[in-house]
Amino acid sequence: MHDVAVVGAGPAGAMTAWQLASHGVSVILLERKRIPRPKVCGGGLVWRARRMLPVQPDEVVLAECRQAALFVDGMRFAASRNQPLVSMVRRDAFDAWLCAQACAAGADLWQGFSVQAADFEADAICLRDGERRVRARLVVAADGAAGRMARLAGWPAHACAAPAVETEVAVDDETYARFAGVARFDFDVPLRGYGWVFPRDGRLNVGLGMLAGRMPRGGLRARLGEYLAGLGLPWADAHGFLIPLCARRPCARNGVFLVGDAAGLADPVTAEGISAALRSAQLLARAMVQADLNPSQTAAVYEQALGAELLREQRAAARLAKVWYASSRLRAWMLRKYGRRMCEGMADVFMGNGSYHAYAQSFLRRLHPGLTG
Ligand SMILES: Cc1cc2nc3c(=O)[nH]c(=O)nc-3n(C[C@H](O)[C@H](O)[C@H](O)COP(=O)(O)OP(=O)(O)OC[C@H]3O[C@@H](n4cnc5c(N)ncnc54)[C@H](O)[C@@H]3O)c2cc1C
Repeated sequence: MHDVAVVGAGPAGAMTAWQLASHGVSVILLERKRIPRPKVCGGGLVWRARRMLPVQPDEVVLAECRQAALFVDGMRFAASRNQPLVSMVRRDAFDAWLCAQACAAGADLWQGFSVQAADFEADAICLRDGERRVRARLVVAADGAAGRMARLAGWPAHACAAPAVETEVAVDDETYARFAGVARFDFDVPLRGYGWVFPRDGRLNVGLGMLAGRMPRGGLRARLGEYLAGLGLPWADAHGFLIPLCARRPCARNGVFLVGDAAGLADPVTAEGISAALRSAQLLARAMVQADLNPSQTAAVYEQALGAELLREQRAAARLAKVWYASSRLRAWMLRKYGRRMCEGMADVFMGNGSYHAYAQSFLRRLHPGLTG
């Protein structure tokens, strides 16, 4: 029997296993697919995520953007930093790299194990994939947006999630040069969300995320086609998935703990989810070690740490997103007045040098004193 079984080897699960194994905890990482496995994602690793890693993933970083540009309501705002605002990775390679770190630290990895059922015993949880079983004292649900583990432990479905779609476009050198070095975010798209262009390794990752409102006619793929055409780029095969934006509460029950997308921790302004996946993993591993793997004490420490940091940030981001995506007229007014400052503020959040909480307080106070709490 292991101390901890982690279900899902994405950033949240691999990081949890890495951190626990580094502290001498016996941990098994269960992944339903073979690694490296594909994952629908833009592969944009913001600096606040990168700086959480104990070792830098240089060998899997394909390109680095030290500038981010926001195109919105006919205006362009840009922010630059000395360190990369967004580093570009392919998720199959990045996640495999994280798993390798976890294994090197002492975690066991069982690939091709898809958790289908869980038996809650007196002092352990038994996870089953057909006839195969794994028993552990504690379980971490790190199986992503559509994962089964949280539901097996009694959580309801995610309350809200952003649909997003992405594609990888092969371009010639001249076209690539048009986009190279800049993480581009377009808010002039026919939905309540944004489009992105992430240049990496001679190709472009292009996508659309819908952060509010109803699905546009024809669906996201049709809108992505229009977005690509508007940028002068050819259509390429697209893949879509959901990004949960509302935290599931509580974050622990019956010896099962939620991290990453399973916990619903992505950023409601951008749907960026890797940094919250990594950070929740760090906080949970720390809580488990601090509480000596006692389930109720771990839950109390983790809940407190999440509340003080990620949940507070997510609430602030949700309030900002509500204003930002509510009306293009209000957004245009905000940008004419504060566009440059907002772009710098966004860059600070990406870098991990600023918080939505602080910006929400200051911007909403300017808009309407009654909106701030
Ligand atoms: C189109 C799109 C673009 C995005 N772009 C970005 C971006 O550029 N930057 C960013 O920060 N975020 C982005 N995101 C969000 C980001 O992908 C997620 O927030 C992030 O992957 C969450 O990590 P995770 O480890 O919680 O879950 P995941 O990465 O989803 O990992 C879950 C793992 O669990 C495994 N699993 C599932 N079920 C089981 C089971 N029953 N048994 C065992 N294993 C199981 C899966 O195979 C998977 O390996 C994007 C999302 C989408 C949909």
